[in-house]
Amino acid sequence: MPVPLTDKFRRPITDLRISITDRCNYRCVYCRTGNEGALYGDLPFADYLRMARVFVSLGIKKVRITGGEPLLRNGVIEFVRELSKLRDIDGEPIEIALTTNGHLLADMAKPLKDAGLRRVTVSMDAVDPERFARITRVPNGYDNVLAGIRASRQAGLWPVKVNCVLMRGFNEDQIIPFGMFAREEAVTVRFIEFMPLEEDRKWSPNTVIALDEILQRMAEYRPLVEIPHQRSETARRYCFDDGIGEIGIIAPVSHPFCGHCSRIRVTSDGKIRTCLFSVWDHDLHELMRRGASDEDLADFIRGVVEKKEERHHIGEPDFVPASRTMVHIGG
Ligand code: SAM
Repeated sequence: MPVPLTDKFRRPITDLRISITDRCNYRCVYCRTGNEGALYGDLPFADYLRMARVFVSLGIKKVRITGGEPLLRNGVIEFVRELSKLRDIDGEPIEIALTTNGHLLADMAKPLKDAGLRRVTVSMDAVDPERFARITRVPNGYDNVLAGIRASRQAGLWPVKVNCVLMRGFNEDQIIPFGMFAREEAVTVRFIEFMPLEEDRKWSPNTVIALDEILQRMAEYRPLVEIPHQRSETARRYCFDDGIGEIGIIAPVSHPFCGHCSRIRVTSDGKIRTCLFSVWDHDLHELMRRGASDEDLADFIRGVVEKKEERHHIGEPDFVPASRTMVHIGG
């Protein structure tokens, strides 16, 4: 029985995120510049599949497909189907999840589910079409995303999670409308604190709507009751006092959870990143290109995991911006 992947702080690494492109059809204000274009390119699916297979043989139990916008890549459904054949070190099927802006999801939700996708997270930062357009800098996207959320629910990709990054001056007044949305649409809405990972370098502590403020604002609508959550879960979980509607808050800035981080990432160009805020990455694909065996790749991955950072330093005087922004890492 192989020893599960663990870093030097004894954190089990069980959760792999693979970015399959750093192209995106949205230009969200907290993520992208207004410009088009990918910086790093992407790889054939067979390469991501091989990487995933080696990671899974080392102890990964969950693979999340992300980007850029992953649904822009032709072949993503077949990729899910191939991933779904992988078994973890306990012989169980791995859990496959997807993070998407939902723009192309309505027609793909059912085929993705049939191919083996277990869960979907849709990013949506306003429940008002005009505000949505101001944040995404794309006209008329709102209806597509709403249709994508509904199609996912219908396809059985349950529970559908809706991620909303809150940024002061853009959408803090959407907190209560999102509370209503969670109840009406039977989805889990998760608010995310804005992190300094955007291309435009707009972040300052002032722009962050932190956990306490979110709770305070939501309490003006209805009381929330905290639900116990697992320590490795990124979100603190709440339901409304009548049991209808779940809210999550992901608070990496005000309440960091690095001590329980179980995640590792592969970028669209095949580099391993041990932390969103890493100032370097590790070129797994270059090794593959040079003809490395699966054993060589496994050794390399184990060595890289050893180097996983203890924590991020957001808001501290010694904070050094990450060497890539979110769209080029894969959130
Ligand atoms: N295109 C897909 C999407 O929109 O969900 C997947 C990639 S996107 C980079 C992944 C997640 O990162 C999204 O939920 C997005 O809202 C979040 N994100 C992007 N920039 C962020 C930032 N600066 N702070 C916090 N979350 C961010």
